[in-house]
Amino acid sequence: MKTLSSGARGPQVQLLQLALRRAGYGPGPLDGSFGVRTAAALRAFQTRHGLAPDGIAGPLTHAALRPWYTGHVNHTIRPGDTIYRLANLYAASARAIETANPALDPLRLPVGAELTIPFPFPVTPFCVDWCSTLLAFCCEGLKARYPFLGLGGIGSSVLGRPLWRLTLGEGGTRVLFNAAHHANEWITTPLLLRYIELLARAAAFGEPEAAARLRDRTLSVLPCVDPDGMDLVTGDLDGSEAWERARAIAAGYPAIPFPDGWKANLEGVDLNLQYPAGWETAREIKFAQGFVGPAPRDFVGPEVLSAPESRAVYDYTRQLDPALTVSLHTQGEVIFWRYQDHAPEGARELVLSMARASGYAVDDAPYASGYAGYKDWFLDAYDRPGFTVELGRGENPLPVSDARDIYPRLRGLLNAALDGAG
Ligand SMILES: [Zn+2]
Repeated sequence: MKTLSSGARGPQVQLLQLALRRAGYGPGPLDGSFGVRTAAALRAFQTRHGLAPDGIAGPLTHAALRPWYTGHVNHTIRPGDTIYRLANLYAASARAIETANPALDPLRLPVGAELTIPFPFPVTPFCVDWCSTLLAFCCEGLKARYPFLGLGGIGSSVLGRPLWRLTLGEGGTRVLFNAAHHANEWITTPLLLRYIELLARAAAFGEPEAAARLRDRTLSVLPCVDPDGMDLVTGDLDGSEAWERARAIAAGYPAIPFPDGWKANLEGVDLNLQYPAGWETAREIKFAQGFVGPAPRDFVGPEVLSAPESRAVYDYTRQLDPALTVSLHTQGEVIFWRYQDHAPEGARELVLSMARASGYAVDDAPYASGYAGYKDWFLDAYDRPGFTVELGRGENPLPVSDARDIYPRLRGLLNAALDGAG
């Protein structure tokens, strides 16, 4: 976290406001603008936690706020502590505490040992703009609440941010869901993380549907393929040298709003035009449209898989060898399921069940965007079901408040995909 004080703006201010609200201090609306109410809430928090009440969120204050960034607190067991007492103390659920601490005998808590206590709110928020700092807190928070989740990275972005991976289940049929290949479609990141969060919770709490869903399956999730781009679009990079470089690239494309129209990585390469499936054709089409060099969108890159983000997703997919993939995008409320005129066996039944579960239409991608995408490559290389899903409507970036309406449709769709895999 950056050091934040009066006058600061951006997604990290929203995150600070969210943490203060979660901790019970009223910072006012989560508007990303550090004003008098945020300062007052912060000073109250600092006073209560033995910090100098200077109204500046620096390293010590951020460390004290960490439980409300990640969604859990570490508690050192004292004589007389029981799970039920601690559940009361932290307004947590006893079941959630047991899930987060599988090695501990709940009836004999060893004094001095550390317990992870999950707070009663979801780890994945739908009420603030996202940035890679929040993404890291959420990945850590999910792993702490659900230790059976696999958490790792598949590589790094241009700016060195981790490309996170979460894995759930141990079955032989592997399924891969990914989100935010496109920067200004970052709303797909909290949506996909919320999905794996609630599926992990349902599995931990013994819900039969979730258990059946995961019995023979392993779900891998790449929640954000373009973290740098997300940070650019939501304002987290404002004032930085990286922002200046992006601004210089965007200056060549004055018709594309900056940064709202930015889809690419920080080198101006469209990460979903990088895959080896008709890449030369995609290049011809996009060059003819004027995207001949680094751009906010639609530049295919100097070579296939030249961008570290697309290369990492490609390598990970080859290593995982999934039976099915779903890629989340935002525009059109539609599911794409073919590459050119070709569809793998079983894809038609699957796409129809995904459409039924979500209410999204089924369609073929228009010619000009029918090449070099992740789904195109997956279908072409593996001849297994791979889908691109456009989750919403409106101008990108969709407001994060749209996530509430999109989520139930997405959940149905992803459940149908998971159930139909293999
Ligand atoms: Zn997209």
